[in-house]
Amino acid sequence: MSAFPVILSAPSGGGKTTIARSLLERRADLGYSVSCTTRAPREGEVDGRDYRFLDREAFLAARDRGEFAEWAEVHGNFYGTMRSEVERVLGAGRHVLMDIDVQGARQFHVAFPDTVLIFVLPPSGEVLKARLSARKSEDRAKLLVRLRNARAELGEVGHYHYVVVNDNLDKAVEQVSAIIDAEGLRHDRVHALEAQVEGLIAQLEQEIHLFSKGD
Ligand code: ADP
Ligand code: 5GP
Repeated sequence: MSAFPVILSAPSGGGKTTIARSLLERRADLGYSVSCTTRAPREGEVDGRDYRFLDREAFLAARDRGEFAEWAEVHGNFYGTMRSEVERVLGAGRHVLMDIDVQGARQFHVAFPDTVLIFVLPPSGEVLKARLSARKSEDRAKLLVRLRNARAELGEVGHYHYVVVNDNLDKAVEQVSAIIDAEGLRHDRVHALEAQVEGLIAQLEQEIHLFSKGD
């Protein structure tokens, strides 16, 4: 089976970063594409691990050089996926897991049509607000921007292949993992399927031949 891209999108606070981290710990067949962003690092975020933190000038220069497979302005900052990151992970034979917004997901899917698009839904608006507030990563004004943007982001759910409700974290991680397993078994992703089936048919013909002779 060849490796494929997997996108997780959700309104801010929906849990995609948490789900992605857990999946990356569990599965050696996954790699993460580290995005570029112009937003300031949060406490505990490490440059090159969580994001590559760029100023606007550097981001726009990289964009103009065509280095992004997709990019978008989200909540007032630029975010983008480097083509080199995607190639690095796929080149190592791993599925490339990306945490990107709804605009970026659309662009990326056009460029890489074998991408699996998964939308993570919060169990309720109240829980989303509570999780986002508890994360303490944004001040009140920025948090309000993210909640307002969530309305438009939720309207994009119909463009995704799968929907996972992040109520219980373990269950949500299991479900995303199951989607990746099932996608790897799609007939168009199975490596050398025709040769495999031809081999089976040849064996079966041999068995039929022997059986019909009474063996
Ligand atoms: P996103 O990356 O989608 O913005 P995060 O992964 O940062 O969201 O999650 C937002 C907050 O909610 C974090 O503090 C995270 O620990 C918490 N969280 C995520 N999933 C769950 C869950 N299933 N139950 C409880 N808290 C959760
Ligand atoms: P945060 O600031 O909370 O880390 O992310 C804000 C939003 O930007 C989220 O919706 C997240 O999915 C999105 N995002 C993160 N990286 C990328 C990226 O490379 N491209 C795009 N288009 N969106 C991204």
